[in-house]
Parts: sequence; structure tokens; C-alpha cells
Amino acid sequence: MKLRVLGCYGGNVPECGMTSFLVNDTVCLDAGFVSGALTLREQVKVKDVVISHSHLDHTCSLPFLIDNNFSAPGFSLRIYAIPEVIASMKAHLFNNHTWPDFTCLPNDLTPVLKLVPIPEDRPFKVNGLSVRAVRVSHTVPTTGFLVEDKTGTVGYSSDTAPTERFWEEANRARNLRAVIVETSFPNELQDLANVSGHLTPQTLHTELDKLNQDVPVYLYGAKPRHLARIRAQVRALRRRKLGFLVQGKTYRF
Ligand SMILES: [Zn+2]
Repeated sequence: MKLRVLGCYGGNVPECGMTSFLVNDTVCLDAGFVSGALTLREQVKVKDVVISHSHLDHTCSLPFLIDNNFSAPGFSLRIYAIPEVIASMKAHLFNNHTWPDFTCLPNDLTPVLKLVPIPEDRPFKVNGLSVRAVRVSHTVPTTGFLVEDKTGTVGYSSDTAPTERFWEEANRARNLRAVIVETSFPNELQDLANVSGHLTPQTLHTELDKLNQDVPVYLYGAKPRHLARIRAQVRALRRRKLGFLVQGKTYRF
């Protein structure tokens, strides 16, 4: 599986794009920085976006991805998410106030955007991938994903505080190649991490004990202001096969 890191931070400053990964050139996993990272020629190839939750650092480039490519011949986009997340995007993003409701444009019969509700805990097919949504522990309805293609499976936690089901499913996954997990705040902001449903290096440490497959773990979601502290605290954990995703890099799992 080819996974290009478009953005891997929990905030946006120059050099730090927000969470989005491009899988096998055509499927995006979250959309915090799709239009900021891809050229128009690359954007138009994106046909499917799988969204973990409604927070803007995972969705804010969707309006521009659609707007940029609306008049490109044959362009259309499908956005997949659990029903609560779809409802939130309808109510707060594509609501004709924040941005046009592209599910009715250019007309109801052939809209440029389809919002596709997905099940939890059952695999669904997205352009050659088999994706399973697993509920995690954030402040709004959120799922992580187990993404499988013919070469293997990658687990992506999305935003979460300490959680259980995601790790159980990762442990059960066939041919697990890597896990991508969040770590948003440094240890000294543990209270903030707790109320906002995020991990710190110390809670990451106990989370990783739940993973019993020996695969590399890549971190995303650091808040740019706290990047240096988070990196130092993660290094101090001295865990094998643990590192940070690199923005712009393409991984082959
Ligand atoms: Zn979030």
C-alpha cells in the first residue's frame, strides 16, 4: 500500500498541514490539507475521501477540493463516514451558509458530491481498498480505520483518548503492516488532552502496550506549538519501531 502524507499535524502553520493521507493515489483518509498539498492535476484524481470525524483539522479542505475541481470534466467526489459524521457535515459544512450544499449541485440528479454513510465494524469497499471503521474515544463521534489492500493492512486511530476496540481490531487484522496513532499534546498538558480526547506521550505509552503485533507505529497530530516537547518526550519512551510521520513522504506498506 502506498500512503502519501499530505498533512500530519493537529494545527496549521507554514510547514505543518493538518491531517490527511493519500492512499494509492486516489483515496484520501481525512482531509485537513488535501487542497494545500496536491496540485490541481493530483486533486482531480481524488474520487473518494474517508472521513473519521467532523473536526475541521480533518475536514477543512473538503470545500476547496470540491470548489477547485467543480468544473473539471467528469469530476465528482464521494465522502464516506459514519452516519453521525455525515449528519454533522450536512448541518455545519455543506449547509449553504458555511459553503454550498454540493450534494444538490449542479443539480439533484447528478450532484458533484455524494455523502455516503458507512457501517461500523464491517468492511466496506472504496476503490480497491477494504476499509473497516472502528469507534474510538474522542469528544465527537469518531472512528479510526483499518485499511486493507492486496498487500496488507494499515491501522489509523484518528483522534482519540485511551481506547480499546481499535487496538483489538488492529491485533486481529490480517497482515498488519503499520499503525498510525495520534499524539497531540505534551505530558504537562495531560488535563487538556483528557478533556479534548487526545493522547500525550505518557498515555500513548500505555496505549501501545495494547498492541500485540510487532509492527512500526507512526505518530501524527502534534500541535505545532508543542512539537519539540512532544518529540523529546516520545524519544524518552525508548520504544522500538516508534517514530513520527513525515509530511510529504510517501510510505510503502
Ligand atoms: Zn478531533
